[in-house]
Amino acid sequence: MRKTIIVSNRLPVKITRKNEEIVLMPSEGGLATGLGSVYREGSNVWIGWPGQEVSDLAEQEELTTALGKLNLLPVYLTAEEINQFYEGFSNEVLWPVFHYMSTYARYEQSYWDYYMRVNEKFKEAVLAVAEPGDVIWVQDYQLLLLPGLLRTDLPDASIGFFQHIPFPSYELFRLIPWREELLNGILGADLIGFHTFDDARHFIGSCVRLLAFHASANTITVNDRNVMVETFPMGIDNRKFESLSATAGVQNQVQVLGKRFQQMRIILSIDRLDYSKGILQRLQGFDLFLQNHPEYVEKVGLAMIIVPSRDTVPQYKELRDQIDQLVGNINARYRTMGWSPIHYFYRSFPLDILTALYNLADICLVTPMRDGMNLVAKEYVASRIHNNGVLILSEMAGASKELIDAIVVNPNNTNAIAEAIAIALSMPLTEQQQRMKAMRQMVAKFNVYHWVKLFMTTLDDVKKAQQSMQARRISPGMAQEMVHDYVHAGKRALFLDYDGTLVDFNVNREDANPDPDLYKLLNNLASDPQNQLVLISGRHHTNLEQWFGELPIDLIAEHGAWHKLQGGAWTQIPGLTDQWKAEIQPILETFTDRTPGALIEEKSFSLVWHYRKVEEGLGDLRANELMDTLRYYIADKPLQLLPGDKVIEIKNVEINKGKAALAWMKDETFDFILGIGDDFTDEDIFKVLPANAYTIKVGNYVSAARYYLRSFREVRQLLKMLVQEKNALKLQ
Ligand code: UDP
Repeated sequence: MRKTIIVSNRLPVKITRKNEEIVLMPSEGGLATGLGSVYREGSNVWIGWPGQEVSDLAEQEELTTALGKLNLLPVYLTAEEINQFYEGFSNEVLWPVFHYMSTYARYEQSYWDYYMRVNEKFKEAVLAVAEPGDVIWVQDYQLLLLPGLLRTDLPDASIGFFQHIPFPSYELFRLIPWREELLNGILGADLIGFHTFDDARHFIGSCVRLLAFHASANTITVNDRNVMVETFPMGIDNRKFESLSATAGVQNQVQVLGKRFQQMRIILSIDRLDYSKGILQRLQGFDLFLQNHPEYVEKVGLAMIIVPSRDTVPQYKELRDQIDQLVGNINARYRTMGWSPIHYFYRSFPLDILTALYNLADICLVTPMRDGMNLVAKEYVASRIHNNGVLILSEMAGASKELIDAIVVNPNNTNAIAEAIAIALSMPLTEQQQRMKAMRQMVAKFNVYHWVKLFMTTLDDVKKAQQSMQARRISPGMAQEMVHDYVHAGKRALFLDYDGTLVDFNVNREDANPDPDLYKLLNNLASDPQNQLVLISGRHHTNLEQWFGELPIDLIAEHGAWHKLQGGAWTQIPGLTDQWKAEIQPILETFTDRTPGALIEEKSFSLVWHYRKVEEGLGDLRANELMDTLRYYIADKPLQLLPGDKVIEIKNVEINKGKAALAWMKDETFDFILGIGDDFTDEDIFKVLPANAYTIKVGNYVSAARYYLRSFREVRQLLKMLVQEKNALKLQ
């Protein structure tokens, strides 16, 4: 039976020993809760590090057995591996760069070496249990290489990857010395998920700039596998917080805590100790609030919980010292005999106390500098069963994309934080309820179960789409069938596009000239008297003449504006005009002057704006702008806009490769028809050819063609095979 394998750095369990017995406590984190329903079922399994070093083999065996009963499979790491892979590469390279704190990054070679090694170790653990058909879901930034490693060993596996922290803009990401390797690792997955659209956009941006893969909207074509990059904002188990909030235990706690805080208005702040959380700036904002609004002295208290984390690392220790100092400083300046403004806890609390605090707090102040999602914000919202209370949320937290009814602030703007607190404290109850209700609905709908389900079904869909695409790929079996039809056909028509189909693209168009191997192939095909070979290209007719004029083949140039039958003269389709060029050319020139690397090509009845040499990103931006501008100008003209591979062509509507192919065939019938092309303009050929024609698209994209091949090399191979098989038959 098909099973699901979850892989994350940590297993969702706390391990302790009581009287020598192993005690396993499932963790309550959001991910563990959400995936709990998945990994506990049937033969599903969760693979990860158990969270502590276990070097003794007998102990490992004992622990593995105990964990196995919970469907958990441990990957044991040595102290050095934890130090270099986890503390090192994950937390001192990826964490700071991905949270836009690149100055904290330490690009140590040994960190990287261990990162690779440990990802390999995880791969081995997955391979030990993976079977064909299984779904593998890899979690987070510690395992960026794992999808790629798995893809090599399991080319057909269904692999998902979700990153729980932000993905930075290309400008930041490219600082990492091993950036290409990291991207290639992630791209081993079929579905790549991020919390926000910006993260997804940044990831795709980095891929197209750093790797030679084609991306269209949210799909990246990796070799011939279509990988989808999607946004899945992770939710929480909202019902858990709602029902816990309604229990007598939690309500009692709320009473008790309320008395302790002497009925003050409470502002709640909860974070792990981390420089990404904006704790110092938040304290400065609170300081400013007290300064600007002395009327709240003795009436407001900030309950600040900081959960200890990584505090042996110098940067974290330093941050902790700074927080201690600033809290002390603010308390010392504003406190009165019976009141102090900040109640600071450097520890963690159990869930019921946290929920009581969420219930007690009039305001929850969540102002990270960067945060993949931020679950505290959602937990606060879910706990507000009376719909009152105000959330102040940083625009840099992923959660701000959904919780738009919060008071959203820039965490660097301490003035804005101070003012947001004042606004929140004086917000009328009806407005609080209106906002909180909307946020609760959002948190309820996009809860963690929804997140898991959506990811899993999308992964399934992506895989199915890949498989149906794959079915169009010309397999050896299909090629045999085609060869059979070819050799037994009496009369054949072969339509071949040139650029991208018979030769590779070249940054300089004039360098994409035919090589001796191609001439030989075309001559071989043409020398068969049963073949009629048509080279059908967008290139200028003089260009085709120069390259192929002497060959015994027919030529169709400029998408059909010109044609030349074997040995004849070039003729153009009648009735075409090029007067429109006078109006369009100056527009193209303006765009060319503004865009380094762009150039204009003039053909008899069309103009082409090329941007293959323009900086990645800028070219597409300008092309879109140009398309918008041209649409307006061509509205009253018999013209057509054709966006192609790094080109935009403006041409007469009458010209199209499909019409040209039909005109060439006239009423003749053929026993075998082949059409091969890579471009948007070749789709017209595929559409007009009869249903039994062999139409082949170069590249795994949506197309009207029946089949696809990966590259011009595969096209040549196929054509060579046709020639060889035919010759072999002749010799028999
Ligand atoms: N949390 C906790 N005990 C505490 C304080 C916080 O278990 O004393 C939990 C909190 O409920 C939340 C998580 O820690 O689920 C923090 O998640 P968040 O996304 O806000 O930040 P992260 O630490 O993942 O960066």
